[in-house]
Amino acid sequence: MKLKNKIAIITGSSRGIGKSTALLFAKEGAKVVVNYLSSEKEAFSVVDEIKKIGSEAIAIKCDISKENEIKKMIQKTIDTFGKIDILVNNAGIVFDIPLFEKTVEQWKQTLDVNLIGTFLCSKYASEQMLKNGSGKIINISSTNGINSLSPESADYDASKAGVINLTKNLAKELAPNIQVNSVAPGWVDTDMNKDLPKDFVEEETAKIFLKRFATPEEIAKSILFLVSDDASYITGSILKVDGGYD
Ligand code: NAD
Repeated sequence: MKLKNKIAIITGSSRGIGKSTALLFAKEGAKVVVNYLSSEKEAFSVVDEIKKIGSEAIAIKCDISKENEIKKMIQKTIDTFGKIDILVNNAGIVFDIPLFEKTVEQWKQTLDVNLIGTFLCSKYASEQMLKNGSGKIINISSTNGINSLSPESADYDASKAGVINLTKNLAKELAPNIQVNSVAPGWVDTDMNKDLPKDFVEEETAKIFLKRFATPEEIAKSILFLVSDDASYITGSILKVDGGYD
C-alpha cells in the first residue's frame, strides 16, 4: 500500500475526480476526510464505500471559499485523526457564460472558490503538516490555465492559471518539508461537463490525441503518483493529464 495510515483531506470529494481520488487513496491505506459543500448524502455514501474497502473516513461539510469554515475543517481533522499528511485541493466551479455577459459576482465567486480557496486550505493544512515536518499538497488546476483557453470560461481559466502560479510559490515557500504539485487535467467525464452541447463535445473529442475524455479514475491515478514516494523528488511541477490535445 502506497499511503498506509496517511491522513488525506480531499476537497469537493462527494463526486467526480475528488470521489475517485478518495476511493483510490483509501485502497492504498489512507484515512480520508471527504469534504463536501451541500451533497451530504453523496459524501456519506463515499465514507461508507471507504469503510467497505477497510479504511477510515469522515465527511466534513465546509465551503472552501469561507476562511472560518476551513479553519473548522482543519481542526476537526486534527481532533479526529491527529495529523494531516496530504491535502488535495480539488473543489472547483465553472460558469460557462460568454465573456462579456459574465458578472463581477461570477468572476469573484470563481476566484474565491478555485484560487483563494486553494490558498486558504493550503495555508491552514500546511501549518499542521509543518508540525510533523512533512506533507504533500496537490492543486487541481486545468489545461485551461495553460493553453486550452475558452472565452466562456475566462474567469475559470484565469483562476486555474493562478492555481498553477500559486503551486510554484507554495512549493518554494514550503520546501523542503512539504512538496506541492499540480495536476492539470484536460477534458474529464464528470458532472462538471454534463450540460455541454453534444456537437461541442464531439469537436473537442476530435482534438484529443487519444480521442476520448479522461475518466475521473485516470486523473486520480496521477494524483496518487504525486503524493506517493514514487514522486519523492518532484515539487513545484505541473503534470498535464489531457490525453494529448491540439
Ligand atoms: P465536479 O463538479 O464533479 O466536482 C467539483 C466538486 O467541488 C463538487 O463536489 C462540488 O460540490 C465541490 N465544490 C464546489 N464548490 C465548493 C466549495 N465552495 N466548497 C467545497 N466544495 C465545493 O467536477 P470535477 O470534474 O470532478 O472537478 C474537480 C476539479 O477538477 C475541479 O477543480 C475542476 O476545475 C478540475 N478540472 C475538471 C475538468 C473536467 O473536465 N471535468 C478539467 C480540468 C480540471
